[in-house]
Amino acid sequence: MPSRPTRRATVAAAVLAGPVSWLTAAAWGLPTAVGAHRRRLRPVVAGSPHFSDGAFHNTLPTPALAPANTRDGLLRQWHEERHVGLPGGPIPLARTELPAEAAELAVTWFGHASALLEVDGRRVLVDPVWGHRVSPSPVFGPTRLHEPPMPIEDLPPVDAVLISHDHYDHLDLPTVRALVRTQAAPFVVPLGIGEHLRKWRVPEERIVELDWDGEHTVDGLTLTCTEARHFSGRYLHRNTTLWASWAVTGPRHRVYFGGDTGYTPAFAGIGARLGPFDLTLLPIGAYNDAWHAIHMDPEEAVRAHGDLGGAVLLPIHWATFNLAFHRWAEPVQRLLAAAEQRGRTVVVPQPGERVDVLDPPPLRDWWTAVGSAADGPPGTSSAGLGTSVFTRVLTRLTALLPGA
Ligand code: ZN
Ligand code: ZN
Repeated sequence: MPSRPTRRATVAAAVLAGPVSWLTAAAWGLPTAVGAHRRRLRPVVAGSPHFSDGAFHNTLPTPALAPANTRDGLLRQWHEERHVGLPGGPIPLARTELPAEAAELAVTWFGHASALLEVDGRRVLVDPVWGHRVSPSPVFGPTRLHEPPMPIEDLPPVDAVLISHDHYDHLDLPTVRALVRTQAAPFVVPLGIGEHLRKWRVPEERIVELDWDGEHTVDGLTLTCTEARHFSGRYLHRNTTLWASWAVTGPRHRVYFGGDTGYTPAFAGIGARLGPFDLTLLPIGAYNDAWHAIHMDPEEAVRAHGDLGGAVLLPIHWATFNLAFHRWAEPVQRLLAAAEQRGRTVVVPQPGERVDVLDPPPLRDWWTAVGSAADGPPGTSSAGLGTSVFTRVLTRLTALLPGA
């Protein structure tokens, strides 16, 4: 029988073996996924009027998280309510044949903030995320609640890829790698994100980096980088790359892509300068009182749509990942109530569905039938959670600490 210290060491080694191999797996690929090192970002971004003291700043004071007492509340909420945002059943996907010729004005929504715009005969892919997990690690972090509606290889040739900011649910390494292989279009990105792309071997000639109000023209379409109220960062460093929304303006039609943003008075200025917009894609999900400044709620999205001079509103940033504590379909339900009150036109496609914006289809409720996991018996759905293993390991590790 081993002596006491040796036995303790054996037990500790056995207990740690699981977490250690898990942590190794969790860290696998992390240096690549997190993107460029902060030192490399500086020369590119330092000239921006929005960059000072080593970071980009919003125009308005914008706390990423409310004060510490809210943080404690969030930990409790995370522990007790993180399942609430899961769907009650499978999310239906539309299988769409994309036309060989791009239309005057159409949009295909792939879930979350990923969409293919067709504007005046050109195609623009926005925030494409085909990856399974939106996290630096392949082992923990939110996973998809539905499969990508179509293989990325089946996308027709696009004229530009727009990125709003470098968070994992908007800038996805496996998707970028696939697009480098399957497409020839430039990546048009906010300042600083070029360094991530260079690190991921996107050819220099396919990278266009812009500050707010900067523009780039592709085959008669003007892509204007516009203000957003948010933050950035893929790992420990915050706000070393810029976040943005985008205006896509052609000779006849105009589209606004909100990306990920809190409500900002800047919307009215963007509408006056670059609108009115035939179509707005605005984020409606992942809201919470604690981070209200950086994620608007559905009612604010309707207000922003009005500020922008929007005609048709297509909600994004919901359905695909569980990133907050609201019920799965709540964003779209609140959106429709607010839009009806203000007489706004909204389209709510299924993931994968293509919408002809010049002849928008009537609303067809497909989300109520999906429901919320919070309505069923506990433990009926765990898809997309992806963090439970992390909690288990943390619990096991903390149990080893002296005094625990
Ligand atoms: Zn974000
Ligand atoms: Zn986001």
